[in-house]
Amino acid sequence: MKITISLEVPDGTTFRIEPVEASTEFVPPYADELIPLPDAAMPLPGDPVAFRAPQARSADVRPSLCPIHHEPWKVVPAGVSKKTGRPYDAFQACPVRGCDQRPAA
Ligand SMILES: [Zn+2]
Repeated sequence: MKITISLEVPDGTTFRIEPVEASTEFVPPYADELIPLPDAAMPLPGDPVAFRAPQARSADVRPSLCPIHHEPWKVVPAGVSKKTGRPYDAFQACPVRGCDQRPAA
């Protein structure tokens, strides 16, 4: 870069140009130059996918177990109740005899 500057100085005046050392110190921008961020994530106009926080997947991945016996549910095939004589659909239940725990629907 070449800059031509014309200066008029009195006779006898010492004039010199010194290179300015590059400052390694971080100079923060002026506060009034900062752009305030919105309080929450805002979807862009026309953005087809609204922002959604990541959700815990552990409940989906982990197999459902009896909360008491920690046994995986067994499928009881559909049949007719010996007690009431009424037919029932297949359902899941704890494999431990006498346990009435059922998986939450
Ligand atoms: Zn159980």
